[in-house]
Amino acid sequence: MVIGRLAPSPTGAQHLGNARTYLLAWLAVRSVGGRVILRIEDIDSPRIKPWATAQAMEDLHWLGLDWDEGPDLGGPHAPYVQTERLPLYHQALDRLLRDDRIYPCTCTRTDIEQAASAPHLGHEGPLYPGTCAAWRYGDAKPSEGTYCWRFRSSNQPLTFIDAVSGKQTAMPLTDLGDFPVTRKDGGAAYQLAVVVDDAQMGVTQVVRGDDLLPSAFRQLQIYHALNLNPPHFAHVPLVLGEDGRRLAKRHGDTRLSWFREQGILARQIVGWAAASAGLCQRGTECMPQDLVHSFTWEKLPRDPVTLASNVPLFKAHQ
Ligand code: GLU
Ligand code: ZN
Repeated sequence: MVIGRLAPSPTGAQHLGNARTYLLAWLAVRSVGGRVILRIEDIDSPRIKPWATAQAMEDLHWLGLDWDEGPDLGGPHAPYVQTERLPLYHQALDRLLRDDRIYPCTCTRTDIEQAASAPHLGHEGPLYPGTCAAWRYGDAKPSEGTYCWRFRSSNQPLTFIDAVSGKQTAMPLTDLGDFPVTRKDGGAAYQLAVVVDDAQMGVTQVVRGDDLLPSAFRQLQIYHALNLNPPHFAHVPLVLGEDGRRLAKRHGDTRLSWFREQGILARQIVGWAAASAGLCQRGTECMPQDLVHSFTWEKLPRDPVTLASNVPLFKAHQ
């Protein structure tokens, strides 16, 4: 049984790029008769917007994307909101600590940026230089609130097969570095929470934007360290603005709620996303259900989708 998930972060409005990724995540499950879980990823507290969870759920419903388990429906893996799952993250952290897979890191962002020779990992920032890695389980901890826990990356090559991009290989330590699994306030960071949740919820298939492809290597290491089964990954190319940068406010308003207010129909959005994924002709209008039988990863173009900024994508039906 394939189990997939939709995992919105309520840090702002969901936009066209999110809609495309959710459609593909949903189709990849529904096309094989699997189960869809809705999980709200709200642990990034300073960036969370109180209105954004309800709006994300409204956007998904409007688009015709449904789920079998979630915060509104309940289910066997409840709760489905990350801020209600903190004890699970702490258990996992405890195990990583006892197995000496993590160490406390007191470095500030500036410390890391200024460390000599720290190479940059594209948009991900500088590679962690290993300043605090000599700490061992049993050593004294720095004072509370001054450190995050960092995962010791492996120096063995790691490989996985991505359903979109094929075989992926990296040297975790030298390509990605040691990475935080908590914040300095002790709360779980994304990399840890997502692994604990996907494993506990029985997720077998993770479909998401390819900005998270490097994170798959981080997450696979956590799966191995916790002796959990990793899911299959499919990293979908992002929707970009005309300048080649990922979709953002400067590219104009592509919020789904805004399209809805303008009288644009969900069928227009879904039709656009499906056409961009090779699943139907340009200009077709359709709903997700109409695509369930024609979905395959083979049709998906491997390049990002670029939006032209000066052409209105959708016209309201009269
Ligand atoms: N919550 C993340 C996002 O909205 C998705 C994380 C994931 O799919 O692993 O970008
Ligand atoms: Zn450090």
